[in-house]
Amino acid sequence: MAARGNENELVLLPLGGVGEIGMNVYLYGLGTPRRRKWLMVDLGVTFPDDREPGVDLVLPDLRFIEEERNNLVGILITHAHEDHFGAVAEMWPRLGAPVYGTKFTMAMLKEKLHETPWRNDVPLHEIPLGGRLNIGPFDVDLVTMAHSIPETSAVAIRTELGTVLHTADWKIDLHPGLGAPTDEKKLRLLGDEGVDVVVSDSTNILSDGVTASEKDVALSLAQIIKRARGRVAITSFASSVARLLNIAHAAEAADRHLVLVGRSMHRIVDLARETGLWPESVKTLNEEDYGHLPPENVVALLTGSQGEPRAALARVAENQHPQVTLSRGDLVIFSARAIPGNESGIIRIQNKLADMGVEVMTEWAGGPIHTSGHPRRGEVGQLYDWLRPKAVVPVHGESRHLEAHVTFARERGIAAVSQMRNGNMLRLLPGEPEIVDDAPVGRIYRDGGILIPGDEDSIRQRRKLSFVGSVVVAVTMTAAGEMAAEPQVSMSGVPKLDSGGDSFEEIAIKAAFGAIQSIPRARRKSPELVGEAVRKSVRAAINNAWGKKPICSVMVSVV
Ligand SMILES: [Zn+2]
Ligand SMILES: [Zn+2]
Repeated sequence: MAARGNENELVLLPLGGVGEIGMNVYLYGLGTPRRRKWLMVDLGVTFPDDREPGVDLVLPDLRFIEEERNNLVGILITHAHEDHFGAVAEMWPRLGAPVYGTKFTMAMLKEKLHETPWRNDVPLHEIPLGGRLNIGPFDVDLVTMAHSIPETSAVAIRTELGTVLHTADWKIDLHPGLGAPTDEKKLRLLGDEGVDVVVSDSTNILSDGVTASEKDVALSLAQIIKRARGRVAITSFASSVARLLNIAHAAEAADRHLVLVGRSMHRIVDLARETGLWPESVKTLNEEDYGHLPPENVVALLTGSQGEPRAALARVAENQHPQVTLSRGDLVIFSARAIPGNESGIIRIQNKLADMGVEVMTEWAGGPIHTSGHPRRGEVGQLYDWLRPKAVVPVHGESRHLEAHVTFARERGIAAVSQMRNGNMLRLLPGEPEIVDDAPVGRIYRDGGILIPGDEDSIRQRRKLSFVGSVVVAVTMTAAGEMAAEPQVSMSGVPKLDSGGDSFEEIAIKAAFGAIQSIPRARRKSPELVGEAVRKSVRAAINNAWGKKPICSVMVSVV
């Protein structure tokens, strides 16, 4: 460390996204270790897993850059997926920096900001596709990449120390269905110019070959729709505008009307129309029109491909949608991959649909009915051939993806491959990448209407409660140390009776009673001592009868 000091360097500090798929936040820092300017690339969220019960959304802990906010020159958004831009609206006041992105991305962000009190305060800068500009000391050059949402960009960051390419999410799809394919020409030119470091997506690195093209999905869906007899309902990610548009064309070719079902389907198609991505000639109908259409003339596009219980598809499967129904002979196509963790919700819906006599299609022998937006090994290798980087930093993956990406890049002959995690500060340039520092990172939970720190005890307690329940005991003592009334017990999540038929409530009352009586009278004047003795005794008695230790709390009042 002593050797470094006053030399300029370029560092990468991920506050999220490395060691997980989600919550991408990458900070690029340029300057000396004492004086750096920061460019934030993406500011995403992630979704709670089953270890975070009741949490609505997981946001990144930004305390490092909040303290450095005066040196934050901008927030550049690569695309409008939640894991890349979902935290901008909520967290912006903590940062206060201008926000940059392409037209569609900014339109999506504007809509989110509209729900916040600071909607008019955020400086939004639209960058044309493939545009180049200076943000503070960073010379930023966008490269259009194919992905599963329009206008996704990689970012070439040129500095006096060298050039870094941050790929964001990407794949090589020669026929992405909407917008330009990955800009191979520009990537090759960058390679000729010289790229020092590539910071790249690891999501599909465990798969060989190349990711299927959106065009092949479109062909499959068109054939399936053409052959269908009854109603066709398709669920997909609403943000996958190319998919939606291809489905619209397939519906038209089969003489069917396209009905949009679910708020985010309408929202995204409206936005796509406003930003010129959705041709005016491609018409859509609303939920209200659905009931008037003969089964053979309808294709419904529904939200809820991940089994979300409040989304349109779940409501249809529960027969609770006010306008949209399905019945025997109809077909539901799942044109989306199940995100790990969502499988059980999706399967529940598929079973409900099967019970209704509806055919459920998740794969098709004739071709792909969905595809990923991320590159497989063949594409990652291709990118490295175009760019010929000196160093590679795998990001956007869980540990298993990052490890596989490291091995893959080494096998491809990349000289330096870095392993890092959230909170590591990696010096990218000059020289070979090296971890030089650490910064605090973590998760913040949106819990109902408030934000709480991810390490707060409440969520751990909630998880515990769901397994063992809770017991609350109220004890009333006189000042002289006598029991003023029988202990009161309230339980939640504890069974009524033990295997011998005794009530747990009685067991708890008896244990509380016994605990108090076993304390010498003089010492019963301490409410703390009484409380702790009762807690231990009740917990032990219930454990003895049940085999589980509930969360136990005791309130002692003195009258
Ligand atoms: Zn994405
Ligand atoms: Zn992503």
